[in-house]
Amino acid sequence: MSVTFWIPAAETKPVQEECLCGGGWAECPHCHGKGTLEYRESMAPTLNLGNVNARSIIDLIGLPDDQLVGQVEGAEIGTARQRILAARNMTRKRRVALRDTIEYGGAGTGHCRVVECGYTDEQVLDRLSCLDAVLAWAQEHQMKVSWS
Ligand SMILES: [Zn+2]
Repeated sequence: MSVTFWIPAAETKPVQEECLCGGGWAECPHCHGKGTLEYRESMAPTLNLGNVNARSIIDLIGLPDDQLVGQVEGAEIGTARQRILAARNMTRKRRVALRDTIEYGGAGTGHCRVVECGYTDEQVLDRLSCLDAVLAWAQEHQMKVSWS
C-alpha cells in the first residue's frame, strides 16, 4: 500500500510508453496487444510513499489526516512549508521520522531472518524536499494538495 500526494486540479498531459510485454500479446491486461500504454500524467509534481514512510512524514510536519487521507489548501500550505523548512534545517525535528534497521531471526534461531529497513536522515530529507515541491507548485497555482 502507498500514499500519493498530488494536486487533483492540475492539468494533465498525454503520456505514451512501451508495455513491458513487448506487444503482440492480445491477452495483455495492460495494452491488450498494442505494445504501448497511453495515459495522462499530472503536469504538477507528485510524491508516492509507502504507508509507513507517508505516516512518518505526515506526523513529522503535522499534516491533518485521517487514516492517511487528507488535504491542505490556502494558508495551510504555507504552514506546512514552514514546518518542512524548519525540519530540513533542524536535525532534532527530523528524529521522530528516523528509524534504525532492525534484523532478527536467521541461522541458529529457529526462525527465518527478517530485516526491517530503517530510514536514514538523508531519506527523510529527500522526502521532505519532494513534498515541498508538491506544496510549492500548489501554492503557486492556488490549488489544494490531496493525499490518499
Ligand atoms: Zn502489454
